[in-house]
Amino acid sequence: MRVDTSLFIALLNPAIALVLSAAFVGLWFYLRQRHLALLAAGYGLSAVGFVLQSFPFPTGFGITRALAGATFSLAACLVGAAVVLRFGRSRSFPIIGVLAALGFTAQMWFMFVDADLTRRILSLNFAFGAICLLVAADLWPSRARSMAEYFLFGMAILTAMNFIVRPPVVMAIYGPISPENFYNSVYWRSAMLSHALFALLISLCVFAAAALDMVSGLRQVSQTDSLSGLLNRRGFDLAAQRLLGQCGTSKCPVTLVLADLDHFKSINDRYGHAVGDRVIAAFAEKLQAAASGARGVAGRIGGEEFAVLLPWADLAGARLLAEAVRVLFSTGDTEGFPHGLRVTASFGVAARTGDEQLDLLMRRADEALYKAKQNGRNSVRMSYERSVEVLPAASANR
Ligand code: GH3
Ligand code: MG
Ligand code: MG
Repeated sequence: MRVDTSLFIALLNPAIALVLSAAFVGLWFYLRQRHLALLAAGYGLSAVGFVLQSFPFPTGFGITRALAGATFSLAACLVGAAVVLRFGRSRSFPIIGVLAALGFTAQMWFMFVDADLTRRILSLNFAFGAICLLVAADLWPSRARSMAEYFLFGMAILTAMNFIVRPPVVMAIYGPISPENFYNSVYWRSAMLSHALFALLISLCVFAAAALDMVSGLRQVSQTDSLSGLLNRRGFDLAAQRLLGQCGTSKCPVTLVLADLDHFKSINDRYGHAVGDRVIAAFAEKLQAAASGARGVAGRIGGEEFAVLLPWADLAGARLLAEAVRVLFSTGDTEGFPHGLRVTASFGVAARTGDEQLDLLMRRADEALYKAKQNGRNSVRMSYERSVEVLPAASANR
């Protein structure tokens, strides 16, 4: 029995394009990212284009082909623009539009003015190939940040070759295409199968990137404190361990500052919990500003307790930062605070010695903070204790 594959091939692309379009609509519904809407529209349009291209319509050959060409050109614009919008940097949307318009104009010219099937096919393919090269230039690997971008760059180059090299090569090997034999030509079959493959591969990349976006979004939420916007305890521990590791490798000094708001319970009792929350947010803002100026990592590690890990800072440098935040917070007028409300904070500072780990550094800074609380609060105290690992070496040098 002879199995006629023409119908299968004719249906393959619109079916794949429709499924991809629906998948992008679904993803857009959850993520509301514009490039997903563009991809949904682009693949939806290309499904229409494939149907117009492959099946007879009552509109007549010329009009149907012109409509198919227009939908393909618009679909190429939308898919190219979506990839550039999500992964690219130079925002080359107008050039994408110009290339698609040029391709469409040439296609119309070689259909209605100077009828020539080969030139019509080549001009449209070359225009789409140029769009792919433009997208590839936007995803140039030296600027790529993720695996999805590297892979998409490769896909853009391969798709460009599929548009620019495949048609002339197939025509050179199998001879020019005649309009009567168009749908049985090697050109048409190779076009249909390769477009289906590339549509799937490109979409897989975009889906993978969307999944990675979601994972990193969830990770960020799980490590951020929503009231202060600082890292939460978990996020701070992870970031601090990373920073300690980097400082250990590059042998740079690193110092920890712990802060605790004074008599905070009485602020809650007197002004209410909502005001207490505002105080926490205001203190966090000042601490974050000071920490990011010093390229440090800041976190809210407890109810009204905060930590900042400062790279390239010794005890004296970190003390200055703590004093600056203390003075700024206790004396400055803070917007939104009830009249007469003055809040102070106490600080404990400990510089890392040797390859001291975070828990030990925390314990020493906490002891210094305790001293600040005992000495009347609203002050900064240091830990002068040396870690046990460096003591023998230090005394041997004496
Ligand atoms: P000290 O000067 O010794 O630190 O006294 P304190 O009152 O600040 O210390 P204590 O640890 O007894 O009280 C901390 C209070 O912080 C108790 C708790 O109700 C309050 N708190 C913890 N988390 C939050 C929060 O998210 N919002 C508000 N408004 N209060 C909080
Ligand atoms: Mg307190
Ligand atoms: Mg406390």
